[in-house]
Amino acid sequence: MESGVVLGGSFAGLLAARVLSEHADDVVVIDSDDLATGATGPGAPHREQLHALLSMGHRQLERWFPGFTEEALAEGALLGRGPEVQFHVDGVRKVDVPRLRMLSATRPFLETLLRRRVMALPNVRPLHGRATGLLDDGRRITGVQVAAPGAPPGPSGAEHTVLGADLVVDAMGRSSRLGSWLRANGWDAPPVSRMRIDLGYATALFARGDELPGTVIAHATPGPANHYQPRLSEPGALAAVEGGRWSVVLAAYTDYRPGSDPERFLARMRRCVAPLRTVADSCTMLGEVRTYRFRESARRDFTRLTRFPGGLVAVGDSVASVNPVYGQGLTLAALQASSLAVHLRSGAHPHTAARGYFRRARTVVDAAWSTATTADLAQPHVTGPYPRGYRLTRWAGDRLMTASVHNREVNSAFMDVLHMNAHPRTLASPALLLRVALTRPPR
Ligand SMILES: Cc1cc2nc3c(=O)[nH]c(=O)nc-3n(C[C@H](O)[C@H](O)[C@H](O)COP(=O)(O)OP(=O)(O)OC[C@H]3O[C@@H](n4cnc5c(N)ncnc54)[C@H](O)[C@@H]3O)c2cc1C
Repeated sequence: MESGVVLGGSFAGLLAARVLSEHADDVVVIDSDDLATGATGPGAPHREQLHALLSMGHRQLERWFPGFTEEALAEGALLGRGPEVQFHVDGVRKVDVPRLRMLSATRPFLETLLRRRVMALPNVRPLHGRATGLLDDGRRITGVQVAAPGAPPGPSGAEHTVLGADLVVDAMGRSSRLGSWLRANGWDAPPVSRMRIDLGYATALFARGDELPGTVIAHATPGPANHYQPRLSEPGALAAVEGGRWSVVLAAYTDYRPGSDPERFLARMRRCVAPLRTVADSCTMLGEVRTYRFRESARRDFTRLTRFPGGLVAVGDSVASVNPVYGQGLTLAALQASSLAVHLRSGAHPHTAARGYFRRARTVVDAAWSTATTADLAQPHVTGPYPRGYRLTRWAGDRLMTASVHNREVNSAFMDVLHMNAHPRTLASPALLLRVALTRPPR
């Protein structure tokens, strides 16, 4: 194909651009933030929150950008191995998974490396501007309308330029307006599923010394013993990141959402597991506490549309944006990019409706959505929708979570699903369920 246009130059857009670079002579990545000046901007304010990269996401980055890990480590990221990555449930440290590896850095750091690698591709170029609509010929999307970066929102006018494309990729994140653009052009918008969770996030950075040798990532969550409520220990996490810093996040629901007051943030850290208490007591906070509110998980199901134009796909949060406490978003974007690669390599013509892509991508979205929403329904304030068989799934999930604290095989299987290396259905294997049933906590 001659040209691919990617709308949104954040994580999902950059990965999609990498995939398109193998199939298009010219790939343009449009973003309303000037991403040449750094991986921050009002278009994706959540970038400042702690982002964990799951091991499948890390593997995908290394697959598309060989040497990515080495480059990241050389510039200050850390690689947590086995016991350096610690998970706590109800205040109890889970048994380690020796083969676990997690790359630890801030999201802007990872995204800057990614952008550098993508923009170094000879046929990829950035364009600073705001996409405002789609052009089509009644069968396929033929291009996009772009406004100058500071142009006022509104209907097309002289300040809009038009960019033709054989394939347009929507990577505009969870507030993508693709649905209304499709409707404006006479197509249907994809149906949206939602789950209201009312989550609050707060992240702060701390100067890192040698106060926690052997710890790269520590994560604490309430579990079944406390009905998933923060009674025994605060939910939170820390990660050693570039620049000799700790990134610390607190996350909680409804009125218990963390705020931006530094003293209260420190007080909550002191009610969390030992690593967070140590950082609160020994390290200096750098800068402000940044908060973010995430009201609902949402997914758009393109596979349910009977009429859909050719020349168009969607990736990343614009397809599915799930509760971030499970850390799946970046990995989901990477897996969708892989689905796009399989679709394009299968010889599918970019001008035909990309049903094969959306079907493939749905498999990974279903997996992420079911992991996150099944867990979220354990929160008393989350009132549905309940999937079929929820009670049984929840009963089995509680037992699995409890057994995973002490049993290494069970925890390995659990972590494989959590890190998106394995499908959630692997947790229903009879051999694993027997192990779960036979696991007793040590006396
Ligand atoms: C608080 C929080 C914490 C999270 N923690 C994690 C985590 O630990 N691990 C993890 O994997 N995921 C995490 N996520 C999810 C992750 O941030 C998202 O999945 C990820 O950002 C999706 O990337 P994206 O490229 O699809 O969208 P975004 O990152 O939202 O980027 C969308 C881009 O599109 C641009 N854009 C929007 N509209 C237009 C337009 N009209 N024209 C041009 N450009 C446009 C924006 O400027 C932006 O750059 C977290 C999310 C939140 C909210």
